Amino acid sequence: MEGAAPAVMLCCGCVMRFRSGVLISIVLLVVPAALFAAGLSFQAVKREVVEQRLASFSRDNTQREAILKKMFTDLGCADHLTEEQVEHLKQPDLICVLPGRTNQTIVVGAHFDHVLVGDGVVDNWSGASLLPSLYQGLRTEPRQHTFIFVAFTGEEKGELGSQAYVRHMSKDEVAHTEAMVNMDTLGLGPTEMWLSHADPYLAAALRAVAKSLSLPLGVVNVDKVGSSDSEEFARRKIPRITIHSVTQQTWPILHSSQDNMKAVHLDDFYDSYRLIEGYLVYLDGALNKAGGMSQ
Ligand SMILES: [Zn+2]
Repeated sequence: MEGAAPAVMLCCGCVMRFRSGVLISIVLLVVPAALFAAGLSFQAVKREVVEQRLASFSRDNTQREAILKKMFTDLGCADHLTEEQVEHLKQPDLICVLPGRTNQTIVVGAHFDHVLVGDGVVDNWSGASLLPSLYQGLRTEPRQHTFIFVAFTGEEKGELGSQAYVRHMSKDEVAHTEAMVNMDTLGLGPTEMWLSHADPYLAAALRAVAKSLSLPLGVVNVDKVGSSDSEEFARRKIPRITIHSVTQQTWPILHSSQDNMKAVHLDDFYDSYRLIEGYLVYLDGALNKAGGMSQ
């Protein structure tokens, strides 16, 4: 297969979802590690393909949406690819659906717009350009969940794209959405999660997958300095998690002329891609068995 790297063995998890965080993390660390041997496989996209998509950025937001649209179309999503216009914005939300065996849904999101200063490679072409690669890695096998990949517009203008997207969701769509996995600002360093604004189960699952794949994962809470599209989903009680790479040291790069290809650590960026791909495969199996939301 084009762009395929050697298969990585992963587990499907039978994880009981309980309210108490402690219990969840204990269960997760024990069960997944044991089950990882069982094996669910995924095809990670080759590093050079992931990097080539990152390097294909444009400084123009209209161009950025068009580049993503072409990537999804070239990968076979044309029949399930739509654009949703957003009030007061030139660029639409871009949505590619990967139908699953069920209509239980996992939303994978990243904004593609950037501020005028800098090239907006880190914030957030890093996340947006991973969407087609994650789609490519997941569609190699039939999945339980329906995955909806959304490239959001207008995040820098106040999460306007994700706000509009969430507003348009029907009660039924909200009820079927088991998780929203958001990527914003990757590649500055090792993968971080915004734990204080993450669903505890989703956070514990990410930690377990990182452990099992021996990939780095840290915690940096950005409550005091920023926000991201995941927060619009939290308003409708959809379990969400934001995955990023920002630290106190690298924060000044955002929205500055330093936000360009040179700011990206490519080893860390590919690690983040592999972790997120493995995570989505894991959630596809685990969420099914858990049943019900973790609120
Ligand atoms: Zn951003």
